[in-house]
Amino acid sequence: MTSIHDDASALIDLGKRYWLPIYHPRELVLDHGKGARVWDTQGRDYIDFGAGIAVNALGHQDPDLLAALTAQAHKLWHASNVFYTEPPLRLAEELVKASGFAERVFLCNSGAEANEAAIKLVRRWAAAKGRAPEQRTIITFRGSFHGRTLATVTATAQPKYQEGYEPLPAGFRYLDFNDAAALEQAFTAGDIAAVMLEPVQGEGGVVPAAPGFMERVRELCDAHDALLVLDEIQCGMGRTGSLFAHTDDAITPDIVTLAKALGGGFPIGAMLAGPKVSEVMQYGAHGTTFGGNPMAASVARVALAKLASPTVLANVERQASDLRTGLAHINHDGGLFAEVRGRGLMIGAVLAPAYAGKAGVILDHAATHGLLLLQAGPDVLRFVPPLTITSEELAEGLARLHAALSAFVAG
Ligand SMILES: *Cc1c(COP(=O)(O)O)cnc(C)c1O
Repeated sequence: MTSIHDDASALIDLGKRYWLPIYHPRELVLDHGKGARVWDTQGRDYIDFGAGIAVNALGHQDPDLLAALTAQAHKLWHASNVFYTEPPLRLAEELVKASGFAERVFLCNSGAEANEAAIKLVRRWAAAKGRAPEQRTIITFRGSFHGRTLATVTATAQPKYQEGYEPLPAGFRYLDFNDAAALEQAFTAGDIAAVMLEPVQGEGGVVPAAPGFMERVRELCDAHDALLVLDEIQCGMGRTGSLFAHTDDAITPDIVTLAKALGGGFPIGAMLAGPKVSEVMQYGAHGTTFGGNPMAASVARVALAKLASPTVLANVERQASDLRTGLAHINHDGGLFAEVRGRGLMIGAVLAPAYAGKAGVILDHAATHGLLLLQAGPDVLRFVPPLTITSEELAEGLARLHAALSAFVAG
């Protein structure tokens, strides 16, 4: 477990030689983790403020997740949806009960697949109402991120993810996030089947929906017989301090998509369908080989129970407050951040204009100083640590961040 390989750069060269060159990882090879700490193959330790992009919400090596995974690994790895196994049956019931709105669940393997299913469900719903294809438009918002498949990248209203992949599927229209007047105007076209949004935009810069915006979206959807689809793939599963991000907005969505933290590090996605849409897709309408895999579902059942627990949610509040205090302190020293925003343990520090575009460079400094950090675009540092991060780990991470930022400013 603590094996130390002497040559990380030889491993990294394999990636440079054999992977599609679509990623630009930091120059280190992670080996194992515990809690909010991770060690690389050289034996150096890191505080994990990224949690594998908001995935390892229970930290690394959570003993209950480990027990669930190994117990299932000794029983059955895969069965397909041609046969029943117990874990996805139980998980579906638990997700429905926890959601408070959903009636049925579709299990899949990733966020993009959950959103792809949601897009297909919206269209089927509209089709069943007799609406022509051009009357099935889905509104999404600039700065959003919904995935990388052709349909979800088209829902993703950011040109940088779409360029060169044309022709993109039709049926999407983009508006400015938090612009209720523009949304009201868009509905006058009469062709809207759904509005799809992230309660807190993640990749787009950690931008929360403005107070009252989600309620207004719900009202407009109701007034125009359109569905409300919430992409809680990043902001859900306890990250904002409640199991579902939309709980605080006091609205009921029609569809919610989950992934990332749902498996605590094991790949799984889910689409939750409310009463308007839960019977729309019938036998043969959609499917997946791996979705509902018993290994993934076993882990997700435990992750769900733990992430919904008052202990974890209370820790989110406590550590979020300390993280914000720490960032304010660091900022007071350096004038680095124009703004710190977000909800719960999903926080974005917007770089001051003098440092615009430098998030990637800061991530390099952070790694050198023993901190795994993420960006959300070129101008925003993104903090999405495990929801179980301890006060000691958080303080250590902040100290390392402070050192990294000092080195960045000096260099
Ligand atoms: C990560 C993410 C996705 C895509 O999930 P994948 O598992 O990478 O396909 C979709 N929506 C949001 C909000 C995300 O953060």
